Amino acid sequence: MVAALTALNRACSRLLRSPNTALFASARAQQPSARIRQNAITAPSRFPAAVAQRQSAHATPRRLFSQTRRRPYQNYHNNNNPHDPHERLRNAKPLFTDGGLRGFIRSPSTHTVAALAFLGAVGFYFYNLQTVPVSGRKRFNCFTEESVEAVSEQQVKRIEWEVERQGGRFLSDWDPRTRMVKRVMRRLIPVSGMEDSDWEVRVIDDPRQANAFVLPGGKVFVYSGIIPIARNEDGLAAVLGHEIAHNLAQHIGERMSGQIGINILLGSFVLLTALWGGAILGTQLFGGTVLDLLFSRPMGRKQETEADYIGLLMMAEACYDPEQALGFWQRMEHMEHQQEAPPEWMSTHPSNHNRIEKIKKWLPEAMDKRAQSDCSGTAAFADRFRRALAQGLIIPVQ
Ligand SMILES: [Zn+2]
Repeated sequence: MVAALTALNRACSRLLRSPNTALFASARAQQPSARIRQNAITAPSRFPAAVAQRQSAHATPRRLFSQTRRRPYQNYHNNNNPHDPHERLRNAKPLFTDGGLRGFIRSPSTHTVAALAFLGAVGFYFYNLQTVPVSGRKRFNCFTEESVEAVSEQQVKRIEWEVERQGGRFLSDWDPRTRMVKRVMRRLIPVSGMEDSDWEVRVIDDPRQANAFVLPGGKVFVYSGIIPIARNEDGLAAVLGHEIAHNLAQHIGERMSGQIGINILLGSFVLLTALWGGAILGTQLFGGTVLDLLFSRPMGRKQETEADYIGLLMMAEACYDPEQALGFWQRMEHMEHQQEAPPEWMSTHPSNHNRIEKIKKWLPEAMDKRAQSDCSGTAAFADRFRRALAQGLIIPVQ
């Protein structure tokens, strides 16, 4: 058996070494050319130029799967064809060089421009400083009411889309809850001094959400879940009066300004703001900002206090009972402490422990205001507030 295997192995070896075997055909075919090449390199020649040409032609390694001769390598890299985009890219000069950048930074004209931009930014900041009449608070607000309204008007469609995406629906105009909200707004709009706005009331059918907001420009959104907490039209007037007060005090514009305040101080956006104002910044930078400010970020404590006071006096001027505002806030605070998830409205209108105490303190003034009002919807307080804001005056709070 072993002898038979040994014999078979020898036969196979002979077959593999045989010149007639196909496996060695290609290797054998290359052998003569290899010999010629070796002779050409080693043997002296009478034609050295021809030898050099042959040497360079054979210097590149033979390609395994192609029998065509490779084009000279230099053709790819020494192409001076100006129409070749790759060639133009290879020869392109860098836009910024270290030396050029250093020169730009050290240039006296750069320093002058930077200093002017900084001074302009500081001037712009102080020019747009305002005093909030009811609190005497100083704030930076570079947005006019019109520019904030223009930005927020673009958001209405987005809100409607969001509501429908979350499975919500808007109540019809004939629903008792919609009619209730509209009745309250009909009395609050005249005292707000914003009768010229394009007012629109939408009530969202969602009993789980206790929320309401008024977009600058007059778009009112109320979630049906807040109506039971408000209990009656006076309570609803407290909610909507507070929301309108945020608009009257231009709190959204103030918060939008606060977002770019640091950049403006650094001089980055001063030219943009001066040249194009709310038009470009409003649409490009603040497209979603109004909604973010309304839905996800809580108002500041001082802004809340201002809105509480302004809202209370406006609802009193519209002949609603200011004491109902106290009851509404007490119910809200009670819910906030009782429930795991406090009402949505509380997340954007955070309570502070002395809110109710302050409203109690303001109640006599609000009751006087109500007694003096002829309930015909005069905007005495709102007009006084606007004049004071424009003139930098303070309205004394009792
Ligand atoms: Zn608020």
